[in-house]
Amino acid sequence: MAQLRAFEAARAKGAEMPEIVCFEKQSDWGGQWNYTWHTGMDGTGETAHSSMYRHLWSNGPKECLEFSDYTFDEHFGRPISSFPPREVLFDYIAGRVEKSDVRKYIQFNTAVRWVTYDKSSEEFTLVSQDVNTGESKTYIFDKLVVSSGHFSTPNIPEFEGINTFPGEVLHAHDFRGAERFGGKKLLMIGSSYSAEDIGMQAHKMGAASITMSYRSGPMGYDWPSTTVERPLVTRFEGSTAHFADGTSDEFDAVIMCTGYLHKYPFLPSELAVKSANVLYPGNLYKGVVWQQNTNLFYLGAQDQYYTFNMFDAQAWFARDVMTGKITLPPADQRSVDIKSWLDAQDALADHDAEADFQTDYVRELIQATDYPEFDLDAVSTLFKDWMRHKSEDILGYRDKAHRSVITGTMAEVHHTRWINAMDDSLERYLNGPSQNVDTNAMATLDPNIILTKER
Ligand code: NAP
Ligand code: MG
Repeated sequence: MAQLRAFEAARAKGAEMPEIVCFEKQSDWGGQWNYTWHTGMDGTGETAHSSMYRHLWSNGPKECLEFSDYTFDEHFGRPISSFPPREVLFDYIAGRVEKSDVRKYIQFNTAVRWVTYDKSSEEFTLVSQDVNTGESKTYIFDKLVVSSGHFSTPNIPEFEGINTFPGEVLHAHDFRGAERFGGKKLLMIGSSYSAEDIGMQAHKMGAASITMSYRSGPMGYDWPSTTVERPLVTRFEGSTAHFADGTSDEFDAVIMCTGYLHKYPFLPSELAVKSANVLYPGNLYKGVVWQQNTNLFYLGAQDQYYTFNMFDAQAWFARDVMTGKITLPPADQRSVDIKSWLDAQDALADHDAEADFQTDYVRELIQATDYPEFDLDAVSTLFKDWMRHKSEDILGYRDKAHRSVITGTMAEVHHTRWINAMDDSLERYLNGPSQNVDTNAMATLDPNIILTKER
């Protein structure tokens, strides 16, 4: 969506539009934000792309991901809170591209099966397949942009004895809601965003206890009394898990929050990113251009503090490289540049430094293009405020309001605290707890609606 918007933005300024085909396996756009109840395979035999669960809310302030060429004010016409739920963010990203008339470039329900590159003709040959009819087609392209994400293929470690565990074992990718864990004793493996967020979601939905098992180190938040952190599971024995500190406990269910794999089954190995989930995967100049083949681009291959606006900065950069507006330096200079970022990444001391690192990265991309500039230092400060709020109150950080660095608009304090918000539909989010809302009024919101505070 960012790449299509980038080309459309140039076209609006008079540039010639290249021939574009965008392949999308699902029946709608939105990628990760295109929620599906499916886990594993959908009805066409494809694996579910989205790892989101029904009641997911943004885990970072929306002011850190705001598009500088399409603000929240422009979309919603009034201030909204800083941590919107899933449907609200989907509405925002879809609203931007709906305005851009780019849907016509997308072939939905079409999976890319295989791509090869011919060095002599400098062309990609791509084989696609309609997931419903099975019909395959072959295309030739000059440039290829890989934007299929890397939070869809679960990383699933093995544990001794786990086959004897009688309860449910699932990965965060397949988690869709914690209602069924009410009253249950849950074991989460992993100590990052998914463990934290799914754990607190389970707490919200009434889980009896939540145990989070870490490999590298505990998250150390001030958890509710239901929640503890333990070192890594060493083995399972029926419903009992044994931990590295010699303790053990019985559980009803296990959720592996063990992250995701970079997986590009449609690409030969010499074109595929091989990386852990890091802020700067190697082999990509400016985090975007494949070092050995500068006709190949990746968007969003990084681990992310910045999200939507970083994808934009990357897409604008990729566009300008593709159209020749940006001239790439020779390979040896690109290698030196990549190495300097990798060295800086190795030296990152803490989360604050990581936020600054990605801020510098995004800044470099925006400086190189005409993507509308915004106060990146202010965004970096927002990231640090957000992290501080999390350590102060892991169940309350989403109730905080932040100020947009683009419009200066102060977010609204939401009508319902996150911990109490059980209906997080777009409609309820925008119109508040009032019982008699006109759902047809959603598209043209009355800016005079007065929200009932229910705090
Ligand atoms: P992640 O940040 O990559 O973390 C993976 C975790 O799995 C790490 O704690 C890692 O431990 C652990 N792990 C990996 N292999 C392991 C093993 N063999 N044994 C034990 N632990 C292992 O993945 P994530 O937490 O799923 O987050 C992915 C993305 O989703 C992030 O961008 C996040 O912001 C996003 N997310 C968003 C929301 C939301 O918006 N509400 C909710 C959840 C996730 P080490 O530290 O030891 O490597
Ligand atoms: Mg610029």
